[in-house]
Amino acid sequence: MTIAAWPASQQAWERTKASLGGGVSTGLRASMKPHPIFFQGGQGPRLTDLDGNTYLDYVLGWGPVILGHGHPGLTEAVSRQLPLGATYGSGHLLEAEVAEKVLARIPGTERVLWSNTGSEATQVALRLARAATGRHRFVKFTGHYHGWSDTMLVGYRPGPDGSLGLGSLGQNPAAMEDLALVTWGDLEATADLLKAPDSDIAAVFCEPVLCNSGVLAPPLGFLQGLRDLCDATGTILVFDEVITGFRIGSGGAVTRYGVTPDLVVLAKAIAGGYPLAAVAGRAEIIDRTTKGVVHAGTYNGNPVVLAAGSATLDALAEPDVYEDFERRGTALADGMRAALARHGVPSTVHQVGPVVQCIAGVENADSFDAFLAADQEFYDRLGVQMLRRGVFTLPGGRWYLSTAHSDADIAQTVAVFDESLAATL
Ligand code: PLP
Repeated sequence: MTIAAWPASQQAWERTKASLGGGVSTGLRASMKPHPIFFQGGQGPRLTDLDGNTYLDYVLGWGPVILGHGHPGLTEAVSRQLPLGATYGSGHLLEAEVAEKVLARIPGTERVLWSNTGSEATQVALRLARAATGRHRFVKFTGHYHGWSDTMLVGYRPGPDGSLGLGSLGQNPAAMEDLALVTWGDLEATADLLKAPDSDIAAVFCEPVLCNSGVLAPPLGFLQGLRDLCDATGTILVFDEVITGFRIGSGGAVTRYGVTPDLVVLAKAIAGGYPLAAVAGRAEIIDRTTKGVVHAGTYNGNPVVLAAGSATLDALAEPDVYEDFERRGTALADGMRAALARHGVPSTVHQVGPVVQCIAGVENADSFDAFLAADQEFYDRLGVQMLRRGVFTLPGGRWYLSTAHSDADIAQTVAVFDESLAATL
C-alpha cells in the first residue's frame, strides 16, 4: 500500500507558512518533497507523521539521531537531569565527564570547548587558529560545508549569483578575501598556497570525508599529505567532523584514517539529537581561550545536552556498534547499486560506515563537480516514491543509519528502493 497524500502535513505546512519565515525552522527543510512532512513522534528507526503514517527514517534529524528516536538510555539520562535544572551559568561535573570521554576516544586531543552548534564551533576553531599562528586567511575546499556563518558559507554550492563564491544574499563580501578555495584532493594546489611567502594562511579546514557533497572519501594519502604540509608550514589542520565524528569510527575520521589534526570540530552524533557541539584538540591551541581568545555562549556546556552527550557516547561504546554500521551501510549501498543497475539507471553509490550517498545520473562520480551534475529532479521523484512507501530520506541523496536500524530494516528498505525506482522510471 502506498501513501496517496499527506492532508494533515499539508494543513500544518499551510499553517506554519503563515507564522514562520519560509514555513520552516531551517531553510533547507523547505526543499523536502513534495512538501515538508510534519511528525508527531518517533521510536527507534521509525517516525510517525501527523496523518498516522510510519516511516523508516534515514534523515535522522539531518544526522544527529545516531541512536534512533527515543533511545531508552539517552531518554533516561536527559530525564534524570531535567528536574535538576536546565543551566547553571557556572561549573558542573558533566562538563568534565563528557570532555574526558571525548579525549579518550580521539587521539591527539587534550582539551575540549563546548558549544551548541557546528556553525559556532567552526568559528571558534578558526579564531583559535588565527590566534595561534598570527595569520588571518584559511584554506577551504570547494563543496565542503562548515556552517552558515558569513566566514564559512563560501564555495559550498553555487550561490545567488550562480558562482561558487558567497553562499547567501546579505553575506559580508569580505568573506571571499578571508579564504583560498581549493579542489578536494588537490595537494599540489594546497602546497602552493601554504608555501607562498605572503599567503597568510592560518588554517586548513576540511570535512575529512566530504559528506556534504557526495560522501567522497579522502583520496589515498591526502589527509596525511595535509598533515605534513601543515607541519612544514606551521599551519593549523582542522578536521570538521560534525558529520563524521563518532559515526565513521569510534574516534571519527581520526581513528578511521589514522591522521591527527590539530583541532577537531564535533556536533551532530555527539549528543544523539540534542544541541551539543565541541572543538577538541591540542591544549596549546585551545588554552588560548585563557589568553585573549573569546569563546562565549550562554548555553555552552549546559547539563541537559551534556547528559545527552554522556549517554550517547556510552551507547556508541557498546560492542560491535561500528562493525554493525559498516555491515548495514554496505548492505544498503550494495542493495541500492544492484537495484540501480537492474533498472539501468546510470549512477554512483558511495558509502563510508553508516553514511551512504546515491548520485543518480552520473557514473563514477568521484568529484564535487560530478556530484553537482547529479540528476536531482530524478532523485527528488524517487524520494517521493520512497516516502509513499514508508521510507523517509534526505533530499540530495545522502542517507544516515542509526544503531536502531536492523538488518531486516535494511533489507526492507532495499526492496522499497527497488520498487520506488520502478515507479519513478
Ligand atoms: N560542519 C559540517 C561538516 C556540517 O555538516 C554542519 C551541518 O550540517 C555544520 C558544520 C554546521 O553545523 P550546525 O548545523 O550544527 O550549525
